[in-house]
Amino acid sequence: MSGEGVWAQVIGQPAVVAELRAAVADPTAMTHAWLFTGPPGSGRSVAARAFAAALQCAEGGDGTCHDCRTVLAGTHADVQTVVPEGLSIGVAEVRELVRIAGRAPSQGRWQVVLVEDADRMTEQASNTVLKMLEEPPARTVFLLCAPSLHPDDVPVTIRSRCRVVGLRTPPVDAVAEVLVRRDGIDPALAAWSAAAAGGHVGRARHLARDEEARLARKAVLDIPLSLVSLAACLNAADDLVGAAKEESDRASAALDGAETEAVKQSLGIGARGPGVAAASRGAGQLKELEKRQKSRATRLGRDSLDRALVDLAALYRDALVLAATREAGEEAPSLAHPDRRADAENLAARIGAEGALRRIDAVLACRTALEQNVKPQIAVEALTVALRLPA
Ligand SMILES: [Zn+2]
Repeated sequence: MSGEGVWAQVIGQPAVVAELRAAVADPTAMTHAWLFTGPPGSGRSVAARAFAAALQCAEGGDGTCHDCRTVLAGTHADVQTVVPEGLSIGVAEVRELVRIAGRAPSQGRWQVVLVEDADRMTEQASNTVLKMLEEPPARTVFLLCAPSLHPDDVPVTIRSRCRVVGLRTPPVDAVAEVLVRRDGIDPALAAWSAAAAGGHVGRARHLARDEEARLARKAVLDIPLSLVSLAACLNAADDLVGAAKEESDRASAALDGAETEAVKQSLGIGARGPGVAAASRGAGQLKELEKRQKSRATRLGRDSLDRALVDLAALYRDALVLAATREAGEEAPSLAHPDRRADAENLAARIGAEGALRRIDAVLACRTALEQNVKPQIAVEALTVALRLPA
């Protein structure tokens, strides 16, 4: 790891790194609850994990010692992480954590509890965490991550007990630089991916490494100019929903099989067959696992569709910006999809600023409908029909 130790992973956030380093350097002034916020892809959980490593490290996060390495690998005994796999983090999961959080650290300097996507905690789970934050044990540090400080994401009661660390979208050139340095990606592809991902680090890496991902993005961004008839709108809806389902099926299949096999093995199901008691216990556990896997598949599908919608909205935003700056006779600012400038210009000419704005609203309405569990096919068809180009 470079001279910056664990902080090298925190991309384009000098102010945040300075603040966290200062906290590590002065343990007497430790805050027991931290809330990392920032837009998707800004690296909330990466920053939280680097902080956890620096807290456990005798050298303040050199990145090379056993403590640093095990924290970053997710295997340190005194760093507990919750990553929601399904749609929410339930109270059972959180209770277990709170129980561990109450212990003194077994080997490290702190007992660290890291909750990624704290906005997915159920109300009951939030209340359980809140009780802990009201009287934190002396050596325990809570690190919560959430997209924003909005009360929908983090209850005000929890927020008021946390020190807030706000991350920003890292600059495109900082993301490109990291793709080259850390992932060994060709500089031209790195620059393109970082720009296309709008500073979203994980997305940029995915685009740089995976041609499928680049093709999927292209298919989504080809949609707006293809919507010349009702039939084209319905086809586009099928494609969007189908691609999301395919992606979630692929990701789920990779995870599900191994899990089911592990549960079956631990229950002794297979070769000789279980006893009656084990069989009924096993059926319950497998059912529970199936339920979790179904919830995760739903989330993976939603995330994939949501990413497509965010890309679409950004293209209409580019059209809006181009139309508006042209009307005002100004120079056009930088675009969200710089490689699709010609498409955005074309759209701007055909639908104007007002038409672009209306279509952005339609995309947002579709995202809201999906959040409220409207069937994807219905929500997306309504969307593509609303996006249809004027004759
Ligand atoms: Zn270290």
